[in-house]
Amino acid sequence: MSTLKFAVLPGDYIGPEVMTEALRVLETAAAGAGLSLQYATADVGGAGIDNHGKALPDSTLEVCQNADAILFGSVGGPKWETLPPKEQPERAALLPLRKAFSLFANIRPGLLYSELTDASPLKLERIPEGIDIVCIRELTGGIYFGQPKSTVQLENGEFQAIDTMVYQTSEIERIAEVAAVTAKARDGRVCSVDKANVLETSVLWRKTVIEYFAKNHPDLELSHMYVDNAAMQLARDPNQFDVLFTENMFGDILSDEMAVICGSLGMMSSASLGTQQNSHDLPFGLFEPAGGTAPDIAGKGVANPCAQILSGAMMLRYSFGQLQLASEIENAVRKTVTIDGLRTGDIAFGCEPVGTVAMADAIIANL
Ligand code: NAD
Repeated sequence: MSTLKFAVLPGDYIGPEVMTEALRVLETAAAGAGLSLQYATADVGGAGIDNHGKALPDSTLEVCQNADAILFGSVGGPKWETLPPKEQPERAALLPLRKAFSLFANIRPGLLYSELTDASPLKLERIPEGIDIVCIRELTGGIYFGQPKSTVQLENGEFQAIDTMVYQTSEIERIAEVAAVTAKARDGRVCSVDKANVLETSVLWRKTVIEYFAKNHPDLELSHMYVDNAAMQLARDPNQFDVLFTENMFGDILSDEMAVICGSLGMMSSASLGTQQNSHDLPFGLFEPAGGTAPDIAGKGVANPCAQILSGAMMLRYSFGQLQLASEIENAVRKTVTIDGLRTGDIAFGCEPVGTVAMADAIIANL
């Protein structure tokens, strides 16, 4: 593999600002490893609406279909907030992308360096070494998509709404596999989160996970936790987890809780992996910062580029199998923030903040 081919969708507000820096870092890392980048940039979100009339233009989808991965910025903001909900950038761009590429696994590292523990609302004594866990959420099944889903008026005049939680064995097994692969590259501990004391889907989830790990990954340490307890344990002692994985709605809530305890959104990357294999026989994926477009700081050159840069590193790891290169970028970010002490405003805590470009320059120098 000498050429890495991916789609670049910068999006809106700070999206293009941090994307420019992430691409500079990726170019430097790739050149050092004798690789070349081949990427096509396309409009998405508000930029898609303004320039092509819709949040995910057909031409953008085509760019993605011709790539091995998508590096995504973030979309949306006040300019498009008056549009009907279905046409708003986030919903009208990300949901169709998830559908088009069957992006079923959302992987979010919960990483907080010990030097940045001030960013966390947790007490220092709970996280003296910072936080280092991964939350994996099933993204295409469960109650968000199950049928029937409806609101009806009853004979007595009351309204009744129904959502349906559905899971099949194969959906559970494929997310279990992503958790297993992720844990193998870490501490080898996997916690499956469910509500098997109440929900039928969770009973099937737990049974399937137990059988799948016994058959395919007996070397990993598997545990189970009810979701209400998991929410408490995340706040009480997050580092008791290594990799936790769960169904769609539980994962939606737990991954946001994890983002809060890890502090700044400017440091948080994520990956969404699809069912399709790319031309390297690796998962096609969409890689993006966990945060949004930060309209409050856009255009000022102060956004933290680390989440976008770390999303690029995840792309190298998962969709291009470049594990060493991904680690080199992650180490360069860590060194810049912790040892060199360079901080953008969101993680400054009393230090003199640097801007977006200076932060990326320092990361490139550390590479
Ligand atoms: P946000 O994540 O954009 O901002 C929340 C806070 O975090 C702000 O104070 C912001 O300045 C800060 N922040 C976020 N990223 C940062 C960075 N890289 N560096 C420094 N500070 C950073 O959330 P919001 O304000 O609720 O949403 C703004 C817009 O983004 C909305 O239109 C929302 O729909 C959209 N959004 C998009 C995505 C996505 O594209 N996946 C995700 C979340 C929100």
